[in-house]
Amino acid sequence: MKFYDVIIVGAGPAGLFAANELSSKSDMKILVIDWGPDVKERICPALNVSFCKKCNPCKIICGVGGAGTLSSGLLNLHPQVGGDLEELTGSERVAWELVNEVDSIFVKYGAPNTVYGGDQGAIEELSRRAAAAGIKFIPIRQRHIGSDLAPRVIQNFKNDLERKGVRFLLKHRVEKFDKGKVVLDDGTVLEAKYLIIAPGRSGARWLLEQARRLGIASRPGPIDVGVRVEVPAIVMEPVIKVAFDPKFHIYTETYDDFVRTFCVNYRGFVVQEVYGKDAVGVNGHTLQAEKSENANFALLVRIELTEPLEDTTAYGFSIMRQTTTLGGGRPLIQRLGDLKRGRRSTWARIERSIVKPTLRHVTPGDIAMALPHRIVTDILEGLEKLDSVIPGVASSSTLLYAPEVKFYANRIEVDKNLETSIGGIFVAGDGAGLSRGLVTAAATGILAARGILRKEGLIS
Ligand SMILES: Cc1cc2nc3c(=O)[nH]c(=O)nc-3n(C[C@H](O)[C@H](O)[C@H](O)COP(=O)(O)OP(=O)(O)OC[C@H]3O[C@@H](n4cnc5c(N)ncnc54)[C@H](O)[C@@H]3O)c2cc1C
Repeated sequence: MKFYDVIIVGAGPAGLFAANELSSKSDMKILVIDWGPDVKERICPALNVSFCKKCNPCKIICGVGGAGTLSSGLLNLHPQVGGDLEELTGSERVAWELVNEVDSIFVKYGAPNTVYGGDQGAIEELSRRAAAAGIKFIPIRQRHIGSDLAPRVIQNFKNDLERKGVRFLLKHRVEKFDKGKVVLDDGTVLEAKYLIIAPGRSGARWLLEQARRLGIASRPGPIDVGVRVEVPAIVMEPVIKVAFDPKFHIYTETYDDFVRTFCVNYRGFVVQEVYGKDAVGVNGHTLQAEKSENANFALLVRIELTEPLEDTTAYGFSIMRQTTTLGGGRPLIQRLGDLKRGRRSTWARIERSIVKPTLRHVTPGDIAMALPHRIVTDILEGLEKLDSVIPGVASSSTLLYAPEVKFYANRIEVDKNLETSIGGIFVAGDGAGLSRGLVTAAATGILAARGILRKEGLIS
């Protein structure tokens, strides 16, 4: 049986940054385990970029670097985007320090120097216009690593960790963990004084099962339900000049619900996502080689449930299945003008729109028949408000695709060091419901590592 000081499960940003913090500040024996492959095996030899959704049928891209890092690698440099580091740390100052630290480490390993969203004059002007419309514009600096550069950044990071003594065990799944040990898929048992479990979204269900088995408390996270909005690229251009991926937060008039824009794809494409045989949804992406005439973004309503149904995932799936049934197995598409008039869209009506849909594997229909009334009201009111900041976004020919649903992992209960109720077992990242993005996931890895360093008396 092999013994380590710390075993980290998951080589995503949470796991890598935890390993970095520990190996920089101690001489502990550290092992990182991931069921996915090494960086170079994640690169498509034809395109020299990480395997994309087109050729990666499992759609969850795992291995060294984790999910998403090799995909587009957009670093959102704000402690309240992609999670809430202020809530986790209890300090605005510490939260910002973590963001800057994560950013500087990515730059150290080769992320580009360019930061988007730094034009203070333009940000103030857009914030003012948004505030006048009752909208909060979240000015965030963003660094775009890009799919061509990301593998090199992650490879440099891993090489340096190995130089500092960190070991990697790849293509091995951790089946089970208990206080002080993990059991691999081939039955091997590895022991460690501390565990950091950071399995990301692909391992969230597994982590939840393990937590339940061990009696570690958890609670369901929220979900975001809404539509993908598609407009002519020219409509989004003025805000794109201010922010690479502009984020607006809105509270709606009727229900006072939280609605936000997410994942803006300028000159991008709407894509279908399959969640099972009876549930499809939509998403958006941009391609380097091909540009569209449109821009798309998600407009999402935050939903949190209390008893008797706290399981937001079950609710999200029921909405998704209902929409899929109405669409005959495809996502629905509707012109905003048709939705407002209370009639379904048809292909003939869609063709009259000045926006040509970038996703055609859809069924023209009536989103009001598919999504709950409250969500439709929130979307209509949200778009009306947005229109005064982004003129044209609520035009009749704007296209809406449904459903777009963002699920989050159950939140594992932890203390401020990210240690669970079982001493020595720490969790980090998206799989534990503590983050929803690269920077915040990385920051939670650092926090868990500091929890261990603190217990060892190596930091105060
Ligand atoms: C296509 C895509 C694009 C994205 N783009 C962005 C973006 O541009 N910007 C942004 O901020 N966020 C983006 N994200 C989200 C971002 O990738 C995640 O928030 C982040 O990777 C979470 O980090 P993590 O370390 O918690 O988990 P992950 O990155 O998911 O890493 C977890 C790792 O654990 C491994 N693992 C899981 N279970 C086990 C097990 N039982 N045994 C062994 N190994 C296991 C997995 O193989 C995986 O490599 C994107 C996500 C996707 C899917």
